[in-house]
Amino acid sequence: MISIKDVKKIFSTKNGKVNAVDNVNLEINEGEIFGVIGYSGAGKSTLIRMLNGLEIPTEGVVSVAGNEVSRIKGASLRKARQEISMIFQHFNLLWSRTVRENIAFPLEIAGVPKKARLERVNELIKLVGLDGREDAYPSQLSGGQKQRVGIARALANNPKVLLCDEATSALDPQTTDSILDLLVDINERLGLTIVLITHEMHVIRKICHRVAVMEGGRIVEIGEVLDVFQKPKEPITKRFVQQVTEPEETKETITHLLSAYPNGQIVQLGFVGGSAEQPLITNLIRHYNVTVNVLQGKISQTQSGSYGTLFIHIDGESDEVTRAIEYIHSQKVGVEVISHA
Ligand code: ADP
Repeated sequence: MISIKDVKKIFSTKNGKVNAVDNVNLEINEGEIFGVIGYSGAGKSTLIRMLNGLEIPTEGVVSVAGNEVSRIKGASLRKARQEISMIFQHFNLLWSRTVRENIAFPLEIAGVPKKARLERVNELIKLVGLDGREDAYPSQLSGGQKQRVGIARALANNPKVLLCDEATSALDPQTTDSILDLLVDINERLGLTIVLITHEMHVIRKICHRVAVMEGGRIVEIGEVLDVFQKPKEPITKRFVQQVTEPEETKETITHLLSAYPNGQIVQLGFVGGSAEQPLITNLIRHYNVTVNVLQGKISQTQSGSYGTLFIHIDGESDEVTRAIEYIHSQKVGVEVISHA
């Protein structure tokens, strides 16, 4: 279904050339759920954007559903792109249109007559479980419902391939699971090929058949998800696998911390690049009337920010603690507040 041959993408910037994607070769089978995992800057978005012609490779050939998307342009590319849909981290819905109108939008563009359009929209609404929300506006929907609209819209023209760009990264764990279940359901019912990019290993483990690990524009490891979990070869893969194989250890840590700090809140921070723990903690102490104890965690620093998790304890007046936690939520970190029962 998808073939990527000797593909390179080089961006020229003020500071020189960036090898965003560097010599990638990859075949993805029809009906497969294929995951690409990597930290921020690894080249995942550039790779996925080359699959639907949003980026043209500097070298190499990309074919999707029988169309050489790296070569064609104009009307041929537009036609080829009907086979390839995409969903996004921030949903990219039209805010002034209702659920029904958002889903109908690609059908309108494709020139589908009104009656057929209405029927198709009703079908899609059922498929993604949005019955009763047809006339709501995006601002009236939860994150999970917004992504359901995104998925219905992406499926409107019966594509062969669905690309998911960090599609669950803005959702809480429970909603993430329900969206991932929906993707599996769609994959099984429609035989749709799904390619998803993520920095979260649990997403890969939950739904992917195979996974490629990207670092510095290259695929450094590829295989069946189970094999990669059992025998990760590269250090970076081992780090991703650890993201999800430590829950037991984490549970013990939490029980221990809750008894050690009976007051205030314990917060688990997850860093995935883009920000660092030190400025965040400095800001908390400086701008909020709270005490902050850095408890424990494993953090590694790279040029693009910190990676890992960190437990902190925040204590003070409850309003002030709430404000401090709101501030953390506004930052580029994963946040899990571990409350006292
Ligand atoms: P990821 O999706 O894994 O975070 P990206 O594909 O977004 O990675 O980026 C890979 C590299 O290419 C990064 O160094 C990024 O800064 C660079 N890059 C991406 N898009 C552009 C662009 N349009 N112009 C210049 N550099 C870019």
